[in-house]
Amino acid sequence: MYTKSIWNIFSTTTDFPQLQGDVEADVAIIGGGITGLSTAQELIKQGKKVIVIDERKIGGGTSSHSTGNLYVTIDQILSSLASKYDTKTVKQVIAARKAGFAAIENNIKNHNIDCGFTTCSWYLFAGDEANRDKIEKELMVAKEAGLDAEVVMPSYMPVTVSRAMKITGQAQFNPMRYVQALAQVLSGENCRVYENTRATKIEEQDDHCMVHTTGGNIKAKHVVEATHTPKGIMMVQTLLGPYREYGIACKVGSDLPHDGIYWGYYDQGEKYSIRKYQRDGDTFLLVVGKPHKVGQAKRNVSHTEALEEFARKHFDVQEVVYRWGGQHYRPADLLPYIGRKNEGSNIFIATGYSTDGLVYGALAGKLIADEINELPNEWHELFSSTRNQPLKAAKKFISENVNVAKQFLKNIPGVADSKAFDAIRPGEGKIIEKDGHKLAVCRSEDNQLHVRSAICPHMMCVVNWNDVEKSWDCPCHGSRFDIDGGVLEGPALHPLHEIVFTGKKVKSHHVD
Ligand SMILES: Cc1cc2nc3c(=O)[nH]c(=O)nc-3n(C[C@H](O)[C@H](O)[C@H](O)COP(=O)(O)OP(=O)(O)OC[C@H]3O[C@@H](n4cnc5c(N)ncnc54)[C@H](O)[C@@H]3O)c2cc1C
Repeated sequence: MYTKSIWNIFSTTTDFPQLQGDVEADVAIIGGGITGLSTAQELIKQGKKVIVIDERKIGGGTSSHSTGNLYVTIDQILSSLASKYDTKTVKQVIAARKAGFAAIENNIKNHNIDCGFTTCSWYLFAGDEANRDKIEKELMVAKEAGLDAEVVMPSYMPVTVSRAMKITGQAQFNPMRYVQALAQVLSGENCRVYENTRATKIEEQDDHCMVHTTGGNIKAKHVVEATHTPKGIMMVQTLLGPYREYGIACKVGSDLPHDGIYWGYYDQGEKYSIRKYQRDGDTFLLVVGKPHKVGQAKRNVSHTEALEEFARKHFDVQEVVYRWGGQHYRPADLLPYIGRKNEGSNIFIATGYSTDGLVYGALAGKLIADEINELPNEWHELFSSTRNQPLKAAKKFISENVNVAKQFLKNIPGVADSKAFDAIRPGEGKIIEKDGHKLAVCRSEDNQLHVRSAICPHMMCVVNWNDVEKSWDCPCHGSRFDIDGGVLEGPALHPLHEIVFTGKKVKSHHVD
């Protein structure tokens, strides 16, 4: 059964108030994940007063659904970057990521943050002969870019390894505890933090911005959308591929490999990320992988099952204790988008991190703060959110958008009689067409039927049922909704419309 992420279990607690009434600050930051808090930290260092809001609890977004690894390389590997760009760009990306990494490490040391931070090595290996060349290529690119990479086989790793490379001086931690502690450290007169406060509208006027929230309005000169992907409709969304990926944490009977980040390629390039985590006398094996486009898996559950099968095949798994899903946004040209929403705007975004956003999130804090304060930053252009890279982005841009177009055109067969509702069993969800309305209908484990409009309010795509996380997921731009239509994540600002049955008629109502 799907549970919480391991980081949510081994977390501390935060108890920030809900916003009540109208407030003002220099900068309003929407999102209390690693990006929002890193930005708050840099801004207050530079003398700004900020307000951070999160619609749920601090750190409860993707930051606490990651693997918790810190490395200077990238998930899509450096050789893909090198084939799109050149060695200079690869070096720049590594240097920028080193700075993001160092910011996290310094915080942990300076504030004595208890988040299981451990320095370790990063390994990339081929689990079969077919992926051997990938490692050779990566090794070459890493060395060319100045990284101290070498051929070393991981020891005590009970999976087949045909070729491996290692980079020392990387690290891992519990990202939830880090983000929670950072919020506690920053909270004060210059950084007011509010939880359970959802931004419902962001307006930009000539001399200020206004963030409307469920608790009051925030007036600020600048707004930072640190929401993992920006809210509402923006051009940048056509450059992002939203993916869902899964993690499991297991208790194992045998010894585990040393602390380390282990990325292995298997059949057809399938990549699994393996690490261990120790806390309060317990040791867990974590396996993360099996990504798919959001809202487009036939059976989401088959993805967590595959992780479990992989873990059981190679380790003496006694129990799978936690299972979770997380979202990431792959950028069309392999680099994140960090900076102004568009030229001249006072609204800032940070997205397209792929699964490298703990380090990119820390880096985004400095990039955005420098841009707000008009300070030079050597990586400003490289990651600029308004950059135009048609040649670099074209292939991915076209394939992602053809995929989105297909989701719009998909004909979802519907049935309209009450038997269709009765046929839905606890834990199941289906799209039912009635009176010309597409309905997202599911039955919770307590046998209650939940009905909402199946049309995603972001850009009118039809949502799909996620049978692992029991949510409605939009296959176009990755918005996700709970069974009562509430926004879980993604670009949608508003819940799925409410459905009202009046006699035989169906009506759908907007909800704020
Ligand atoms: C499976 C997986 C594994 C990963 N592993 C790693 C890894 O090992 N290393 C690494 O560097 N990266 C990893 N990542 C990527 C990394 O976790 C993310 O890129 C990073 O956490 C993003 O941080 P963020 O602060 O931008 O977003 P989030 O942590 O998602 O924070 C955004 C916050 O905004 C809030 N919010 C959203 N909308 C609103 C609203 N309307 N009003 C108010 N608040 C709102 C949310 O509640 C949330 O708390 C992984 C990702 C996945 C999916």
